[in-house]
Amino acid sequence: MDFIVGKCLCEQITISITKEAYSATDRTYVCHCKNCRQCGGSLSAVAVIVPLSAIQITGEPKIYQDGKTDSGTVIQRAFCSNCGSQLYTASPTMPGVQIIKLGLFDDIPKPSMELYCKERPSWEKPIDGTKQFHAMPARQS
Ligand SMILES: [Zn+2]
Ligand SMILES: [Zn+2]
Repeated sequence: MDFIVGKCLCEQITISITKEAYSATDRTYVCHCKNCRQCGGSLSAVAVIVPLSAIQITGEPKIYQDGKTDSGTVIQRAFCSNCGSQLYTASPTMPGVQIIKLGLFDDIPKPSMELYCKERPSWEKPIDGTKQFHAMPARQS
């Protein structure tokens, strides 16, 4: 199987995703929520939802339990304890997947959705051709 490999800044942790999962742009999004901004120290987060079976991780991520969410669900935010790079998030409401931060990779695929647009700064424009969601889209079953 072909893998695309991403690394944290210090390169102690690598995340490999199958090429097929990496290029599933319908699962790729930008999140403007405040939690994503704060933990990344950045304008927004760009991530892809990947089944666990399509992910390989080397190194030992540290997990922050983030309970400061809209729904009150505690989500796991994984990061490198050496360099602080954000790696992925996981939620008990989305079993079987991890949401991988695409900033770790070269050649980031274009997202298809933007979430939490209500928290996007007024001066930042929507990305052409993406679906805009005020907050979190309703989950499809
Ligand atoms: Zn690191
Ligand atoms: Zn977010």
